Amino acid sequence: RRFVFAFNEGDKDHKDLLGGKGAGLAEMTNLGLPVPPGFTIATGACRRYLTDGNMPPELADEIDAHLARLEAERGKRLGSAVDPMLVSVRSGAKFSMPGMMETILDIGLNDDSVDGLAAAAGSERFAWDSYRRLIQMFGSTVLGIDAARFGAALDAAERSSGAAGDVDLDAAALRGVVAVYKAIIRDATGREFPQDPREQLDMAIRAVFESWNTERARVYRRQERIPHNLGTAVNVMAMVYGNLGPDSGTGVAFTRDPATGAPGVYGDYLSEAQGEDVVAGIRTPVPLQDLERLDPGSLAELRRIMALLEDHYRDLCDVEFTIERGKLWMLQTRIGKRTAAAAFRMAIQFLDDGLIDVKEALGRVTGDQLAQLMFPQFDPQFEAKPIATGVPASPGAAVGVAVFDSASAADTEGKTILVRRETSPDDLPGIIAADGVLTSRGGKTSHAAVVARGMGKTCVVGADGLEIDAEQRQFTAPGGVVVREGDTISIDGTSGCVYAGAIDVVPSPVVEYFEGRLDAEQRRRDPVVQAVSRMMIYADERRRLGVHANADTPDDAKRARRFRADGIGLCRTEHMFLGERRHHVEELILAESAEEQDKVLAELLPMQLGDFVGILAEMDGLPVTIRLIDPPLHEFLPDLTELSVKVALAEARGEVDLGDVRLLRAVRRLHEQNPMLGLRGVRLGLVVPGLVAMQVHAIAEAAAARIRAGDDPRPEIMVPLIGGTEEFELMREEIERVLHDVSEASGIDIRAKIGTMIELPRAALTAGRIAEHAEFFSFGTNDLTQTTWGFSRDDVEGSFFPAYLEKGIFAASPFESLDEEGVGRLVAIAVEEGRAAREDLLIGVCGEHGGDPSSVRFFDRIGLDYVSCSPFRVPIARLEAGRAAV
Ligand code: PEP
Ligand code: MG
Repeated sequence: RRFVFAFNEGDKDHKDLLGGKGAGLAEMTNLGLPVPPGFTIATGACRRYLTDGNMPPELADEIDAHLARLEAERGKRLGSAVDPMLVSVRSGAKFSMPGMMETILDIGLNDDSVDGLAAAAGSERFAWDSYRRLIQMFGSTVLGIDAARFGAALDAAERSSGAAGDVDLDAAALRGVVAVYKAIIRDATGREFPQDPREQLDMAIRAVFESWNTERARVYRRQERIPHNLGTAVNVMAMVYGNLGPDSGTGVAFTRDPATGAPGVYGDYLSEAQGEDVVAGIRTPVPLQDLERLDPGSLAELRRIMALLEDHYRDLCDVEFTIERGKLWMLQTRIGKRTAAAAFRMAIQFLDDGLIDVKEALGRVTGDQLAQLMFPQFDPQFEAKPIATGVPASPGAAVGVAVFDSASAADTEGKTILVRRETSPDDLPGIIAADGVLTSRGGKTSHAAVVARGMGKTCVVGADGLEIDAEQRQFTAPGGVVVREGDTISIDGTSGCVYAGAIDVVPSPVVEYFEGRLDAEQRRRDPVVQAVSRMMIYADERRRLGVHANADTPDDAKRARRFRADGIGLCRTEHMFLGERRHHVEELILAESAEEQDKVLAELLPMQLGDFVGILAEMDGLPVTIRLIDPPLHEFLPDLTELSVKVALAEARGEVDLGDVRLLRAVRRLHEQNPMLGLRGVRLGLVVPGLVAMQVHAIAEAAAARIRAGDDPRPEIMVPLIGGTEEFELMREEIERVLHDVSEASGIDIRAKIGTMIELPRAALTAGRIAEHAEFFSFGTNDLTQTTWGFSRDDVEGSFFPAYLEKGIFAASPFESLDEEGVGRLVAIAVEEGRAAREDLLIGVCGEHGGDPSSVRFFDRIGLDYVSCSPFRVPIARLEAGRAAV
């Protein structure tokens, strides 16, 4: 087992061992490109160092041997007093973490070798500039001294010698800077700057290892979901110098524009500079094209190499290079990071150039990237400081005046942001009317978030710094900013930021395309839309998985069709009882006799009928899975505390309202400590007489009406929240009875598949028996996650989830990305046992996970027939299903 590898010993496929940078250097070396020689210390050494707290004992000998080889190859000695070799020490993990870890250049310089370097290069200035760079980088990264101290000293030197920037400092001034830098080090550490080149090297390597665990590196890895246990490799490379005068410089370049995907090389160049100057933004670089004027030979060579690299990697590459007195050196290459827009465009470009096939093109874009392209966004030019931040629950950008209840949202002209402490079903009309939703409580699966996502509406929840005073119609942000009703605010559902005032928003052309609002010419003119539309065709041609939509209204259904859903996988009928119809449900609950109940149900019937007719008409010929009423009834009643206070106040004034008293009694009767585990789902259907019969009656009549109109309606009736087959069988009997009755009465043979949701562990574990009676399953993975983990879907996000994510208990919320190991296993068991009992059992999923890219791949793998998600996520699921199939 070895730790150290010369560049010519590796290749691009050894990223685990050599890190991304080491693998790229090895590959370029093997391609015969001009790479300065060097070696890579493998990631395993870092892992050992981090677990043992010491360098692996065998590492020193290996470094010695490679250093000797390097010195022999260069014909120079590290840090020698005569013509010294210098080296750079640079981090390089398997996954690139730009700017997160350390780099130290010019190692090997000391009070003697600086003169040797000056003599060899024929430039005092260059040698002292390199020395001050070494001490500066070493001091801040290896010794941990505040970089600002060095920056301030450099500024002071520039000021006192009247220089406009560091390039204008002459050798004498730089000598002075070195003296000051050394004093800073002495002062901060009580030690002199180490003069022994080998000690410098060892300390630098150790610092790179340790930089793996800095706070910013950990934060970055969490964000990018990079495992914490990989460690970084260290690349030691013979220095070439970009600071050797005006015919030297350094730059970074991309083989295409990584922001837009436009073809043609793209980059920045800085003359008389070393490595970090370009990225650090110390001086403003010039566009790569300007190199044409400065050094056309090197530019031509660079273009040739970049073309070769792109052909070789068959992908966007980025490179770092240095020109030393007219000679080009390649210091790094890797597959370049890119925006979502660029990813789509480039995949199509490489496909059209014949470098990759459709399968690979689909592999180059992700559902998450498509999602990014579908949100309206704040103008990237804006500069504003957020007044608060919350949980980004539904992406996008929304600007509007703050309103504090549903009625104001509906009544206010123009765009509004509904601001609530939390939302209840009562707020639905407000959510519909508003352009964005902001709450100070709740998490990503809170009602507000689910509903907003379903509508593709921007939503920030759990902004707990906000003090919302709905009575006074205002809120106060943490810094003391007060926003009153009518004041304009802007919310960013991608970052969770809340801003005072208006920020410009640009709509997504990709959504305009899916909505069918772009004409052929507009489509042709927008290369991103073009790329997306072609990719969707490739995905649709290949996907095995059906993609349905969760849709509760004819409008949603229309959009589902426009977005090419294969049907409706979940129609939540309770949404039809909200808003103005809520009082009917209230009356149903308060009804004291069977007659009264029947009367209310008879009032509800035509409304439900109208809803179903509308939806079935939109979805003619496609399946529409209608779920019977699910949520606990108390959600349709006023809040217990608020009503209690109201009644108590009225009593104190001697003005008792008997209606309110009666209502309060009902609210108390239905009040549950744990409503999510209480009287809801199938339990409601079994204990509230007439409710299910009314719903099925409406479905059957609606189907009959559509058949009479010459359509082909395909309703499917779904029972929620069963724990086992007994509940289902009872429901099934009732459903069949009503279907039969309506068929008889109408003279039309009405057929509907009857199936169930699987959203409790017990249902999953007894799926075989359930499937004997159910024609289809649809996994309700929201409730299944809630009940499998025992996490409240409404509370976790603002509560302990941040700590859980922090501790790495899971990388993403299990309510967003399916927990394959636990919840996924229940799903897999139910699929297997359900199909064993009924071969043609139709199986889908309709929880939030149905639109989550990684979950979609899982559902494909375990053989589901379809996923169902909000209409706006339909294209994302289609793309991901296509990607899963290739
Ligand atoms: C589910 O539980 O996953 C589901 C789709 O039902 P709801 O979100 O309406 O509870
Ligand atoms: Mg559910």
